[in-house]
Amino acid sequence: MSTRNPDATAERRAAPRVIAIANQKGGVGKTTTAVNLAAALAARDHDVLVIDLDPQGNASTGLGVSRVDRSLGSYEVLLDETSLDAALVETAFPGFWLIPSTPELAGAEVELVQAPRREQRLRDALRESRAAVDYVLIDCPPALGLLTLNAFVAADAVLVPLQAEFLALEGLSQLMRTIDRVRESLNVRLRLQGIVLTMIDRRNNLSIQVADDVRAHLGQKIYSTEIPRNVRLSEAPSHGLPVLSYDPRSAGAVAYVRLAEEFIAREEAIR
Ligand code: ADP
Ligand code: MG
Repeated sequence: MSTRNPDATAERRAAPRVIAIANQKGGVGKTTTAVNLAAALAARDHDVLVIDLDPQGNASTGLGVSRVDRSLGSYEVLLDETSLDAALVETAFPGFWLIPSTPELAGAEVELVQAPRREQRLRDALRESRAAVDYVLIDCPPALGLLTLNAFVAADAVLVPLQAEFLALEGLSQLMRTIDRVRESLNVRLRLQGIVLTMIDRRNNLSIQVADDVRAHLGQKIYSTEIPRNVRLSEAPSHGLPVLSYDPRSAGAVAYVRLAEEFIAREEAIR
């Protein structure tokens, strides 16, 4: 049980920093990064809310949130059927809250098209929230549709997990253009928070070559921490736990703790 309280009545805090974790490619480590970066931030006494914005609900399942606790989720928040605060679920990890995803979210892309303020609905819900967390991490679906657009409008910055594989840079320019367009129209604050290389295999020449190549192209936006390919990271969700609970000594856990330190340093440099 957490002794911390997300209710703002306890003490007034600055508005949370909102970070969208996005890449329109699937299977690049968005959800793994959202869950494990959140746990590592919470372990450093930064209260975190993860919003599961993927209809697949992998973050919700991977955190062991039962179906019962998922009666309200990001779909109901976006469609104004609930406040964000009423949909908050406490995870087993102290300081780590979740807005789960429900299967209905799959219909939201279509349903939102007709809705007023269709791109601003998540931002509106976050502004009304009294949840006093330090960071909100939004786990985006693998597409640049209305759900991801809602995340980009609600966010201060975008964190991009990039899998170091052949054609890793394909698609990245489209993602950057989308971020630029949102900055020019719906959200002038939006920045690129950083790019994190995931599933790095230092024994694999191609993986190293791609990682070096990406660094040469994108420079200091790339986190110096790399996330290695580590089987513990892929096992932890089936136990309903972040890797920091499942196996805190694993290479995956150590990497996400380092990433959290670097993340906090970047965030504090701009506050
Ligand atoms: P996305 O959210 O971008 O679709 P996931 O985070 O779900 O990607 O990762 C895709 C799959 O790869 C999942 O099965 C996950 O457990 C696994 N995975 C992610 N990162 C790693 C890693 N660093 N090492 C090993 N497996 C990983
Ligand atoms: Mg995912």
